[in-house]
Amino acid sequence: MTLDNLIRKNVKNMSAYSSARDEFNADEENFLFLDANENPFNTDYNRYPDPYQHELKSAISEIKQIPKENILLGNGSDEVLDLIFRAFCEPKEDEIITMPPTYGMYEVLANLNDIKTILVPLKKGFQIDVDSVISSITEKTKLIFICSPNNPSGNLLQINDIKNILEKSSGLVVIDEAYIDFAANSSFISELNDYPNLIITQTFSKALAHAGIRVGMCFASERIISVLNKIKPPYNINQLSQKKAFEVVKNYETYLFQVEIIKSEREILKEEFKNISWIEHIYPSESNFLLCKVDNANFRYNQLLKQKIVVRNRTNQHLCENCLRFTIGTPEQNQILLNTLKQINS
Ligand SMILES: *Cc1c(COP(=O)(O)O)cnc(C)c1O
Repeated sequence: MTLDNLIRKNVKNMSAYSSARDEFNADEENFLFLDANENPFNTDYNRYPDPYQHELKSAISEIKQIPKENILLGNGSDEVLDLIFRAFCEPKEDEIITMPPTYGMYEVLANLNDIKTILVPLKKGFQIDVDSVISSITEKTKLIFICSPNNPSGNLLQINDIKNILEKSSGLVVIDEAYIDFAANSSFISELNDYPNLIITQTFSKALAHAGIRVGMCFASERIISVLNKIKPPYNINQLSQKKAFEVVKNYETYLFQVEIIKSEREILKEEFKNISWIEHIYPSESNFLLCKVDNANFRYNQLLKQKIVVRNRTNQHLCENCLRFTIGTPEQNQILLNTLKQINS
């Protein structure tokens, strides 16, 4: 793989917007900043934020054990994914591969960017159909999306399958690790040096408990990160979010502790669900949710809604007929859920 051939021509030829803070970023204490047309009166937020989020990235670099140069941050992983499309996929020409049932945003972003999506469904048991994926790869295949642990099934995809695809793909492979903190396996971040075509995404929205601040993380080679940096909106992570995300990372232990509670609640719920007569199957989960096959998903979904409990009905997804997805709540919330499930146990 040569990255040069994967970058869209217009992206390769363009130069980035050079912001005022880009051209001159020095210790704020000692300089008089009259360069960016900001209001000079201090509000704590009158200045533009750091376009490259240096402080936040240093903190992330420590917990993720990866140099800052290999990190890009986006307004949620959704922005990160969109930047990847825009950097590497030529509209109306290129293709991506996704493996349903999986996260819906890959296909939405492909449609938005006018890129064809090749669907290679997961096999029964929600594992990758490696042969089909490999035989679907053409010279137009720029991106292959692998979600592990997968949403909505909850399971990890097999490491050897992922490595096999990384080796066979002539394009880039994106591993979406939004739920990796809930899993037994560790992140593919430690494999980045071995696979120049690997991109990993993670998020502040799930284990790190900050879906509201919209911060997504991307880990990849310095080359890939520099291409994405070139095309990203200069101030894509606002000052409030940078500040909050920095605090989150500094309190990492708190969230790891919550993850342990959520994981143990997941196991408790799994056992309790076995006593609910209309829950027919509980799929193995390495995430903060459980996918369950029920007798009639639409009926049960509406029954729960009447009791003011909202779950996700996935019945229309591949391999998910009559499946509901339950997010793991706090111990108190899960107790309410269990009481309600038992009440409507008929
Ligand atoms: C929730 C989720 C995300 C997170 O997206 P953000 O834009 O960072 O909130 C990413 N990928 C998957 C598979 C998810 O389920």
